Amino acid sequence: MSFRPDPADLKRLREWVSGPGAQNIALASAAEFQRRDKVRERQHKRVVHHRCSYCGKGSTDTLRVCSLCKSARYCDRECQVADYKTRHKAECAGFVHPPFTTSFLTEPLGDDKYPQDPLFAKGHLNGVGFWVSVSSSVDCALQTLANPLRPIKDPLEYNRRDIRMLEDPNLGVKYKARTRNLLTLQVLVQNRRKDGKPVVVFGARTRVLTSETPTVTQNVLNGRTEADRITIFTDGGRGAFGTYASIAIAEDMFDQSPRLLITNVNGTVLKEGVPLPSAVKNGPRGIVALHPGEFALLHMQFRIGDGDLIVSEWDALSCLRALAVPVVAPYDPAVCNTTSLDASISLKTDPVSGKLIDELASPGVTEVRLPFDFYAAEAYYEDLSEKGELAFIKSHRGEKEAEAWAREHAEMAEHALQTMENIRRLGLPADELNSMFELARNMVSGRRD
Ligand SMILES: [Zn+2]
Ligand SMILES: [Zn+2]
Repeated sequence: MSFRPDPADLKRLREWVSGPGAQNIALASAAEFQRRDKVRERQHKRVVHHRCSYCGKGSTDTLRVCSLCKSARYCDRECQVADYKTRHKAECAGFVHPPFTTSFLTEPLGDDKYPQDPLFAKGHLNGVGFWVSVSSSVDCALQTLANPLRPIKDPLEYNRRDIRMLEDPNLGVKYKARTRNLLTLQVLVQNRRKDGKPVVVFGARTRVLTSETPTVTQNVLNGRTEADRITIFTDGGRGAFGTYASIAIAEDMFDQSPRLLITNVNGTVLKEGVPLPSAVKNGPRGIVALHPGEFALLHMQFRIGDGDLIVSEWDALSCLRALAVPVVAPYDPAVCNTTSLDASISLKTDPVSGKLIDELASPGVTEVRLPFDFYAAEAYYEDLSEKGELAFIKSHRGEKEAEAWAREHAEMAEHALQTMENIRRLGLPADELNSMFELARNMVSGRRD
């Protein structure tokens, strides 16, 4: 599949990619992100008129917040004390509610039937709590490596990535960069330790575990590339009764960095070009150190399947059993630093068989396993699996957005046809024509047909 494009062809294609046709497509994707931001903003406005967690009284003033969970809110000290005695003590320690942030809304707001960020996994250990959702595209399609992970406001960023891949087409092939098979998880983590000690989370070392069914595991592995770090565990491994895969975070083809992003720390959205908060120890590696009450939101992508049998977020989620996140809790900076801890994280090896065991080998690092709630995901994606994308968008994002999606979808199909026509005119060899078609299809960003 090694291919060197003719420089003249490449020049023409590059011209097209930076031309108006491709730009329209990119602009439409940017419009989708902007629309979603607006929805969040609207919801946020509704939420700021919050109510007291104890007496239920609504208020426009700033309410007192429980310093440990940043979730419960009160009119005054009396309400806070009364709530703590009757209910909140257990709720706070049990990580019942995630910290309040508009970047992660787990409850339906206003008349909505579904939350913006439905919970599909949660759990806590040693005073560190996790809530897991999906960062979904409007129609629940899985993403590609070709697309940037960060929601891009500048539509030309898509084209820049495309041009880089055209210049080195083998990269796209090696990484299967145009296959729509990346699931994006949103992981919210918070320290609620009562001893005042910080904790450290190693985002880039997070993995997902597939269900222990050989066929599911096989479907999940079909899209595997040489760049993926996947370990297979079979019967006989400790605690395992079937065959399952442990999949590390996907790797970006341009800089080999893990496809993860810290998007929010303590309610502040992290933006490019703005200094990182001190909680972020290593942005690209997703290492955060959190003091009690502090929280961070990470987005991470995992390659699930080959884009054929598994095409939607729901398909991908239903193959997964748990998310495993390494943490050090409590963390003592005097004893070891986060960089060496991050580098030390690995799986144990069985001394007899020499095979890897599904347990961390690094002393002091604990892996928190968050089981996926299959039924919660099934309920959330019911419309998608039974009635299709349009019905799903209607019920989850409203009539208006469904209309906009249908309109855009038709426009994009038209653009894709034009792209193919343009490519045909380039007269590329048959093999390469196919991969260019694939490019054209994927120009229809965030979509599948
Ligand atoms: Zn009150
Ligand atoms: Zn609390």
